[in-house]
Amino acid sequence: MAKNYPHIVTAPPGPKARRIIEQDERYASPSYIKEYPLVVERGQGPMIEDVDGNRYLDFMAGIAVASTGHSHPKVVAAINEAAAKFLHICSTDFYYESFAKVCERLAKLVPGPEPKRVFLTNSGTEAVEGAIKLVRSHTKRQNIIAFRGAFHGRTMGAISLDASRVRYRRNFGPLLPGVYHLPFVDPYQCRVCAKPATCTDPLTCALTAAEALFHERVAPDEVAAVFMEPILGEGGYVVPPREFLQYWRDFCDEHGAVLVFDEVQSGIGRTGRMFASELFDVVPDVTLLAKGLASGMPLGAIVAKESVMTWGHGTHGSTFGGNPVCCAAALATLDLVEGSLVMNAQRVGKLLLQGARELQRKHDVIGDVRGAGLMIGIKFVRDRATKEPYHGLVPELERAALAKGLLLLGCGRSTLRLAPPLVIDEEDVAIGLRILDEVISQARVPA
Ligand code: PLP
Repeated sequence: MAKNYPHIVTAPPGPKARRIIEQDERYASPSYIKEYPLVVERGQGPMIEDVDGNRYLDFMAGIAVASTGHSHPKVVAAINEAAAKFLHICSTDFYYESFAKVCERLAKLVPGPEPKRVFLTNSGTEAVEGAIKLVRSHTKRQNIIAFRGAFHGRTMGAISLDASRVRYRRNFGPLLPGVYHLPFVDPYQCRVCAKPATCTDPLTCALTAAEALFHERVAPDEVAAVFMEPILGEGGYVVPPREFLQYWRDFCDEHGAVLVFDEVQSGIGRTGRMFASELFDVVPDVTLLAKGLASGMPLGAIVAKESVMTWGHGTHGSTFGGNPVCCAAALATLDLVEGSLVMNAQRVGKLLLQGARELQRKHDVIGDVRGAGLMIGIKFVRDRATKEPYHGLVPELERAALAKGLLLLGCGRSTLRLAPPLVIDEEDVAIGLRILDEVISQARVPA
């Protein structure tokens, strides 16, 4: 069937969009970023329609959230059915079936042979926050290792772990004590040594920095946990070598620390596997989820080995966490993702990666293309030899693509993230790549 998108009838933002933007800008908090003037009316599958009737192909899924596409009929039906029964009762104090089902499902789905237990939250940052409490109470230790380039959310504990942009932390201190940031391995560009453009062994550079920390400043047996994104999200969609993750698995095993994988962005089928940890065959002690888990309804999860989820009765809870409508959406989402979308992400993701690599051959400004499934990063540079980031290009591409009916989103210092809903097909891939090619060819950013 022919696609009814992209379809631009009036240059965005159109008149209705401008009115809503004006209202928003007058009353909403100035802290919101607002990437570009997209004002949404409705969505269906990988298509978003704005209030002026423009239709776009969505290659960002509301920041990697709309896993099953926009308003998937099965997810909407599950939400309606649950909402008609009851909206709230508080999972911390009472029972309901959808909550128990989501806990069982995630406990059995997350990799690793050990039995697991699940705590449900309203967001990714709350999953991170809860996990900080969990690892401290479990180990009776305070120190946490996190990584440069990491993003874990916007609450106080999470921003203490963040190291992707200073604006997330500036003026909000004092932050949590006992957090140590180490380099994350970017195979394209060493983030440690004096020769970032030519270093051929970024793994050794990163691990040397870790060894120095444990030699000079922190005793390994005083580390409560290592928090890491198996694939860096906000920090630039960076895929580390397997050895990096294995190093931290071994470290935690040797020193009794907890390995926490923040899969808020990479989990639930996005990488062509249910969890990114499966790509590397490294099993964490705790997996954190949110974003794609309930197709856009607010739900996050801490999934921990039973031997690690040792906090006592009444020590942690939430009024809204694991809301029944969100749990119903999660069960429908998991059916769809496990049923076929994870395989679709793998299959279509390969085409998208291949297509992005072809664009790289054509356009000198593309320094690197990396990713797995439908979590793909395109890194822009001013010069392939020096690998100098091409600041300012990504926002320009976003705007140009918007005008042509493609929704994009940046990450890192000069990377475009391709994170479409997992329902896209070959034709969507071709449309997205065609528009990307056009906007890269036409981009003109002053030096
Ligand atoms: N962790 C990761 C890896 C994320 O990408 C994000 C959000 O982008 C978060 C945590 C925070 O999630 P939320 O915005 O739902 O609090």
